[in-house]
Amino acid sequence: MSEFDLINQFFRSMPQQRNDVVLGIGDDCAILQVPEGKQLVVSTDTLVSGVHFPAQTAARDIGYKSLAVNLSDLAAMGADPAWVTLCLTLPENDPVWLEGFVKGFSELLVEHKLQLVGGDTTHGPLSISVHVSGFVQPEKVMRRDRAQPGDLVYVTGTIGDAGLGLEMLKKNSSEKNTCVIKLNRPEPRNYFALALKEFCHCAIDVSDGLLADLQHICDESHCGAELLASDIPLSNELKEYYGGEVDVNKVLTAGDDYELCFTVNEKYNQRVLEISKETGLQTSCIGKITEGSHVVCLDEHNAVIETSVMGYEHF
Ligand code: ADP
Ligand code: MG
Repeated sequence: MSEFDLINQFFRSMPQQRNDVVLGIGDDCAILQVPEGKQLVVSTDTLVSGVHFPAQTAARDIGYKSLAVNLSDLAAMGADPAWVTLCLTLPENDPVWLEGFVKGFSELLVEHKLQLVGGDTTHGPLSISVHVSGFVQPEKVMRRDRAQPGDLVYVTGTIGDAGLGLEMLKKNSSEKNTCVIKLNRPEPRNYFALALKEFCHCAIDVSDGLLADLQHICDESHCGAELLASDIPLSNELKEYYGGEVDVNKVLTAGDDYELCFTVNEKYNQRVLEISKETGLQTSCIGKITEGSHVVCLDEHNAVIETSVMGYEHF
């Protein structure tokens, strides 16, 4: 199969579900219509085999995850998802692998009404770069630099599951349980984010670890944060695995959860509960923003928990 047959068979045939795509796959560039009064929000994330996912991960999960992590960035800004481009570097032209990849990728594409509008296909070690764009109303956007001392800090879902999933896979590569599923198929929080951005101005998605990502908010907003370890939401699976002796350090620094961490003035406490109920997504208040400059996490005796690493870093 030639490069062009491959593009036609697998990528040009993906669902065409937007009328703001003036010209999609097939030309040198795509032509896209941004709605009047909206701002364009763009983000790119690359997944490298052996770094961002174990090499033995199923093609379908890789396809799913490569779009999920990008959608999660749009969620963190409160943006409405619109368009995607896909740059694939493939070690071989394997139609079975591609079919699986496209299936996983399409699941989220259809669910979030995105359209694939272009990309690039090259030969080399497996790597996937996805570029997403979406829209925001200028005044309704969530940014890392908008936290205020006194704000409450929240997270969606539970923390540490994906990190534990990876640990489990390293011990037994055929392991399949909710933590491994959370690692391979994170659910980006876009629906929740679209409701949240109506009153929340500051959010980040937890990709490198809760401490590291909340520290990004603190750096950009010139503030600190104080968390209570006992308020960090943990799944039953994780608690069972640790058998009552939860390794808080691991939970705080584990990556790949793709939950949202956000800060709101406490007067919005009730609205957070409302959208949590409406979307069926657990949210937990885990602490507050302070005048300081660092994230600290306190144990049940109000002592600061010492952490050696904040989260995942490539270099
Ligand atoms: P060019 O050489 O002009 O960059 P290509 O031959 O690389 O064009 O691609 C032809 C068309 O197919 C372009 O519209 C490009 O956006 C699209 N395309 C190539 N690879 C992919 C891919 N992996 N996913 C989606 N579209 C792709
Ligand atoms: Mg090209």
